[in-house]
Amino acid sequence: MVQRPRMATTIPSVPDATGHFGQFGGMFVPETLMTPLLDLEKAYIEARQDPAFQAELDDLLKNYVGRETPLYFAERWTEQLGGAKIYLKREDLLHTGAHKINNALGQIILAKRLGKTRIIAETGAGQHGVATATVCARFGMECVVYMGQVDMERQALNVARMRLMGAEVRAVTAGQATLKEAVSEAMRDWVATVENTHYIIGSALGAHPFPMMVRDFHRVTGVEARQQILEKEGRLPDLLVACVGGGSNAIGLFHPFLNDENVRMVGVEAGGDGIVPERHAARFQGGKLGVLQGTKTWLLADDDGQINLTHSVSAGLDYAAIGPEHAFLADLGRVEYTYATDDDALSAFKEVSQTEGILPALESSHAMAYVSKIAGSLPKDSIIIANMSGRGDKDVAQAAKYLLGEDLGTL
Ligand SMILES: *Cc1c(COP(=O)(O)O)cnc(C)c1O
Repeated sequence: MVQRPRMATTIPSVPDATGHFGQFGGMFVPETLMTPLLDLEKAYIEARQDPAFQAELDDLLKNYVGRETPLYFAERWTEQLGGAKIYLKREDLLHTGAHKINNALGQIILAKRLGKTRIIAETGAGQHGVATATVCARFGMECVVYMGQVDMERQALNVARMRLMGAEVRAVTAGQATLKEAVSEAMRDWVATVENTHYIIGSALGAHPFPMMVRDFHRVTGVEARQQILEKEGRLPDLLVACVGGGSNAIGLFHPFLNDENVRMVGVEAGGDGIVPERHAARFQGGKLGVLQGTKTWLLADDDGQINLTHSVSAGLDYAAIGPEHAFLADLGRVEYTYATDDDALSAFKEVSQTEGILPALESSHAMAYVSKIAGSLPKDSIIIANMSGRGDKDVAQAAKYLLGEDLGTL
């Protein structure tokens, strides 16, 4: 991992007026989407200052989603690793099993305010599709989720969950028939339907104002964690750790601590089978600066600019581009980025399951793998907060195959 110098000044407030985080971010979209995106930005900025909007969001976060989530001291795991005290921020306990609902809920309340009646989304493994279908059912909105045909077969359980809640899941058969193609289809739909339709993007990605909005809807994780650690330990943590796919759970935890100079932060990307082209999704390991899905950021592409295939055992981290704010924070040296391989993540999955009785999502297991590696080398009075972004129930078939040698089929 690259150790970068600690920043000395405060982090500028980003994005700027043109939606840029330093040289990253922006609005790289077809002309027809420019006005809708600017309207969305304006409506969002108004909403976030409106106490009625905040009150509705806070009420549903509490009573529907299950906030606040505990900050749990992992006592046995701490003892086993023999170093820093490890706290887990329990986003896995939220309704639908992961942090994604924080964002889906915020965006649908905004969509209602904008007078939209129809929601679209894209999904890879189905987790964001499930969160979106959930809030659409709750708000009585029409819901269309685009999903690659290949992903639909691999994630039959999530497809059924979405359909049971009344969503229409549309199969995308173009190209690799996975997430990237699903995103393109959703964009095509949005260009034609933006009048009555809001597109709920699932991570801190896409054109401005999405990375900012998604970040803000996840900040609640870090705001709670900050207050909880002050109550429990009387001081701020030494280290924050989170996995990074598009980067939403990580930015949600990190953002409220960015100006706390002594809090170190590490984002963990998917190292897959190791850093070999097309066998990982670690954008900071040899990624290139480019534009994908409306935003300028680091992405995995070949020398002709064609997007590379990616691989990770965890579908939620398996994406070629990273959110633009993470690219910016890496440039500033404020957040360090490393990776965990599939094997690292699976052994951390087992370790946490067997010492704490918590099955982490395979995505979250990447963060846990870094904790497992580092905690023992830190002093016993130091404090780590790691984000348990989701629960591993969805990953039982995969984990059983790797760790128990049992084939449960596609659950
Ligand atoms: C989707 C997902 C992720 C990755 O997305 P981010 O936007 O990087 O947070 C991480 N953990 C879980 C449990 C997920 O479902």
